Amino acid sequence: MQALEHIRHLTAANPGYMTLQGTNQYLLGREEITVIDVALVSTENIDGILGQVEAMGGKKIEKIILTHIHKDHSGGALALKKRCGAKIGIFHSRGGFLGGEDFTYAGGDRIPYDGGELVVVHTPGHESGHCCFYESKQQILFTGDHILGRGTTVIPPPDGDMTLYIHSLEKLLDLRLRLLLPGHGPVIEQPYEKIREYIDHRLMREEEILQSLRDGIDTVPSIAARIYSELPNPLLPVAQLSVEAHLLKLIKEGRVGKEGERYLITKRD
Ligand SMILES: [Zn+2]
Repeated sequence: MQALEHIRHLTAANPGYMTLQGTNQYLLGREEITVIDVALVSTENIDGILGQVEAMGGKKIEKIILTHIHKDHSGGALALKKRCGAKIGIFHSRGGFLGGEDFTYAGGDRIPYDGGELVVVHTPGHESGHCCFYESKQQILFTGDHILGRGTTVIPPPDGDMTLYIHSLEKLLDLRLRLLLPGHGPVIEQPYEKIREYIDHRLMREEEILQSLRDGIDTVPSIAARIYSELPNPLLPVAQLSVEAHLLKLIKEGRVGKEGERYLITKRD
């Protein structure tokens, strides 16, 4: 992998189907460190982050910023703040969610860190307040759960929104990108290929859902069972959420209607 200047990460000990090897918590800076996402409250995790700060020659953690509010990204933020006095930043629509935030940010805001700055890229879809952080000097994007190192992310309605999600992916194509550093899984060294693959994958799922409806498979569970047949069982409820998210997108576009639990293609499609 190409060298990263003043960037380290610590993967939290929360592996699982959704979190892959665990949540990647990133540390940036020379002496005053900025932390992106804190997954776990555990002493082991907080000690681990503080240990990394020392190892990178940092003197203190200046601030903690969050890609989104899901627990595996925000759960340990207050515990870390308590230990080191760092300031916590959160997307403005989520202000007050943790009850200990010190500042908020919006899309387009610049957040300085000791060594450069991060631009906030609001990327709703996985979570309505989800943000990626863009480091333009190194052309690196911290993607949180918007793009993962492996597999795809879940879009859980009603807060998760497939229309916004695909739009948020397209938006990233305008950035100059060298690397994507995801919230889970390995570094992505072909950013544009990955983004296009993610968009194409969703459009393929959408086509599969439309085909299911044409074939008379017309409820969320039956569609999910058909098109996600390769998924391990524990992930099926999650797959159903994504199917629902696709159907809501199609309804919004006037391509699909709903009667009770059944979905149907409108004449137009
Ligand atoms: Zn996550």
